[in-house]
Amino acid sequence: MSNITIIGSGLAAYTLIREFRKLDKETPLTLISSDAADFYSKPMLSTALAQGKDVNSLVITPAEKMAEQLKLKMIANTTVTGIDTAEKTCTLDTGDMVSYDRLVLTLGADPIRIPFQGNANDDVLSVNNLDDYARFRAKLAANVKRVAIVGAGLIGCEFANDLLSQGYQVNIIGLGATPLDTLIPAAAGRALQSALQQAGVTWHLGTTIKTFNSHNKNYSVVLENGDCFDCDLMLSAIGLQSKTEFAKQAGLKVSRGVVVDATLQSSNQSIYALGDCAEVEGQILPYVMPIMHGARALAKTLAGEPTKVVYPVMPVIIKTTLHPIVVAGNTRGNEVSWQMESVEDGVKAIAVNTAGKMTGFCLTGKTANKEKQSLLAGLK
Ligand SMILES: Cc1cc2nc3c(=O)[nH]c(=O)nc-3n(C[C@H](O)[C@H](O)[C@H](O)COP(=O)(O)OP(=O)(O)OC[C@H]3O[C@@H](n4cnc5c(N)ncnc54)[C@H](O)[C@@H]3O)c2cc1C
Repeated sequence: MSNITIIGSGLAAYTLIREFRKLDKETPLTLISSDAADFYSKPMLSTALAQGKDVNSLVITPAEKMAEQLKLKMIANTTVTGIDTAEKTCTLDTGDMVSYDRLVLTLGADPIRIPFQGNANDDVLSVNNLDDYARFRAKLAANVKRVAIVGAGLIGCEFANDLLSQGYQVNIIGLGATPLDTLIPAAAGRALQSALQQAGVTWHLGTTIKTFNSHNKNYSVVLENGDCFDCDLMLSAIGLQSKTEFAKQAGLKVSRGVVVDATLQSSNQSIYALGDCAEVEGQILPYVMPIMHGARALAKTLAGEPTKVVYPVMPVIIKTTLHPIVVAGNTRGNEVSWQMESVEDGVKAIAVNTAGKMTGFCLTGKTANKEKQSLLAGLK
């Protein structure tokens, strides 16, 4: 019987396998993962402090249980170093080979790191998986009070919100003039900026780090705009880059991610890609909802019914509980402009096209919850 091998054990891998097992209980499945392959929810990493979760309690289902429930051959703590598309084999860092009939890449993405001048670059943390989170919590436990975050996007702002909830002092450094400037309009960003500032954040926007040095258990940060301050821990959250390295080496078509069509099939007809590593018809959508929809479509394809993924309107919720934000629909491009309104404690922004039709929206503050459903209905 033909076998399917999945590389990775994140949300993309496990959602796909769950969906596939609903359709096919017998086809042999092998999962290979660099990490321990425990099932967890990555979005919880940036809200775990407020929710009283530690690394152990973030694990929803241990790897062995996942293997048993989903009838999987599990090869955990093992990295795939290459694939041979002619022989249909994966090479592992143990030196072993695994054969596949069909292969699914769910490799995720790596945090982007920029080298700062100074002697403390190696001490900068990024949090993108459970092992990173364990390191982060171990550092926090070592008498840390002042945390600096470089990157004022979704992940940086969510970590700031979470750290504030536990009384940490937070400095955020962001290149844009307002937080989340690539995702939401400036007025909405300013509303978030003001809410987090009132809760204690010191913002350094429109600038970046010039030097980062360590002195007697302290770190000193000097910014390009001349500001300087000390901190006990530096977190980098400046974006993610799809993992494509061995896909490229194997000759698969790669752009910003592993290039796949609407059926999630790569340029090699036996290989598929899903999740943060995949570029689906030109788009990288590094969020949970696109993974869910992609997994359902790919499960059907792998079970014998070729299916294209069709994405509905997928809101992105920014989990800054001090000032929640939701953004949905098409909010970018030259043909889109914003109609702004101040509401209660936040902003209601409607994106309209040149014909005056709503194409998307962004809501902040209490309104984010109240009006989300009715505006989403208007986008369908
Ligand atoms: C802090 C944080 C908060 C977030 N919050 C939200 C949110 O609120 N809403 C939302 O929609 N999205 C959110 N996201 C994004 C969302 O969590 C991701 O899009 C999603 O989890 C990605 O899943 P994935 O399976 O593609 O990748 P990953 O979960 O990164 O999994 C990749 C897997 O591949 C394995 N792997 C990689 N290379 C190899 C190799 N060579 N050999 C073997 N195994 C390999 C890794 O070990 C890992 O198991 C958040 C992300 C972060 C970091």
